[in-house]
Amino acid sequence: MTIKSVLVANRGEIAVRIIKAAQSLGVRTVQVHSAADVDMLAVKLADEAVNIGSPAPKKSYLNIEAVISAAKAAGVDAIHPGYGFLSENGDFADAVVAAGMIFVGPSGDAIRLLGDKVAAREVAARAGVPTVPGSGGRVADLTQAHEIAARTGFPVMIKAAAGGGGRGIRIVDSLAELDKQFPLASAEAAAAFGDGGLYMEKVITKARHVEVQIFGDGENFVHFYERECSLQRRRQKVWEEAPAFQLPQVVRQKLCESAVALAREVKYKGAGTVEYLYDDSTREFYFIEVNTRIQVEHPVTEMITGFDLVQEMLKVAGGAKLSVTQDDIRPHGHAIECRINAEDPLKDFAPSPGTISRLEVPEQEGVRFDTMLYEGYTIPPFYDSLLGKLIVWGETRSECLKRLRHALDGLKIEGVPTTVPLHQALAQSAAVQTGAFHTRFLEGWLDTDFACKDKVRPEVA
Ligand code: ADP
Ligand code: ADP
Ligand code: MG
Repeated sequence: MTIKSVLVANRGEIAVRIIKAAQSLGVRTVQVHSAADVDMLAVKLADEAVNIGSPAPKKSYLNIEAVISAAKAAGVDAIHPGYGFLSENGDFADAVVAAGMIFVGPSGDAIRLLGDKVAAREVAARAGVPTVPGSGGRVADLTQAHEIAARTGFPVMIKAAAGGGGRGIRIVDSLAELDKQFPLASAEAAAAFGDGGLYMEKVITKARHVEVQIFGDGENFVHFYERECSLQRRRQKVWEEAPAFQLPQVVRQKLCESAVALAREVKYKGAGTVEYLYDDSTREFYFIEVNTRIQVEHPVTEMITGFDLVQEMLKVAGGAKLSVTQDDIRPHGHAIECRINAEDPLKDFAPSPGTISRLEVPEQEGVRFDTMLYEGYTIPPFYDSLLGKLIVWGETRSECLKRLRHALDGLKIEGVPTTVPLHQALAQSAAVQTGAFHTRFLEGWLDTDFACKDKVRPEVA
């Protein structure tokens, strides 16, 4: 059945993105929101809005019962979960289906299987995808942890099987550190994710984060090429690109095909991302995890392939077969996305909620701004600090960077400090221009090069 109405179980820029995609398809939209989000842009854009609870996510955006009963009352066909919140909750996906609606994403079983990072490693191995050397399954106890560390050597990572969003990861350099961190990691994982299960991976130093956009309809599986997301802070992406321009063509092909093999292994349905670490020096890539949802950085892929991934999600969830074959997908040019957060990069990224007094978006060829902002909007303090994403396309990477610098200068957000000055400095930096970076590069650069921060200060409103 074709989806005729959809409820958006999310907030912020992704809720706006989903509403616009739905509207392009003529689909009626219902936006749920917390009491703190009455004024959010998605509420204004949707055909209908429903207040589902108090500001705390547990009382609203994470409240399965409240979301489902709003959907039933509104009589929608489907629920789109966006990213974060309930998007990777298999029980939520099951509850949506049990209530007679369509979950825009994979089945509850697929989410649970791939969301368990240990089980996902096993799926990858079955599909012939190389994984990071480490534990075979969950690490039962310290004795086993010692055995694994003896095999991989230090430094080694302790990771929560149920972790995500850059949390639940610790690096240890010695046996003594391992003894100390292992029980702490387990307790923390149990508290944060409701699952104390841990696994271990060798630390791949100077790796790049490269990920592949996959799509399936349960029978046909394609990839939309790869993204490079190595510029990270605290293991969270700050700046993303497509394609990963330094990747040799033969590696690109193997990498993308391995992601499709993984999708085929689980008969994947919907949009997903297979994440890898890539080592330039050996040209080896290693699977790290699968995200069974739309990702924050999906627009860079849309810019180089020309497809609308969110529309495709709605069509496939409604029962359509994939609208494209692999041969239809031909990347062209280069795209970069800068995450614009309400954080002060000059004050150790302190969150900075407040009211937007001025918003000016550059009108420039190849520029897209996906945002939740409008002038006069007051950013509530309860949620993620992502305000929007500036995405720029160019024929070549250097043209893209040139356009990006111009677009960043033209993007005026006043009222709260944002990460725009950080992106301006990055777009100027030699390392970013040559592309000589890895996943630990940004943190070092922030301490050294960005230390001449004062120069940037006057740019902040
Ligand atoms: P992407 O993988 O799309 O780049 P991020 O890692 O930035 O996404 O996560 C997107 C959003 O989802 C962020 O708000 C992040 O905090 C949240 N998130 C991702 N995974 C989890 C998780 N397992 N638990 C809680 N929040 C998560
Ligand atoms: P999350 O679920 O929080 O997104 P990931 O497993 O995707 O966790 O890892 C997040 C980031 O942590 C990666 O992008 C990378 O920068 C770093 N990382 C993860 N595993 C390793 C590893 N084995 N070696 C080096 N860095 C890693
Ligand atoms: Mg990840």
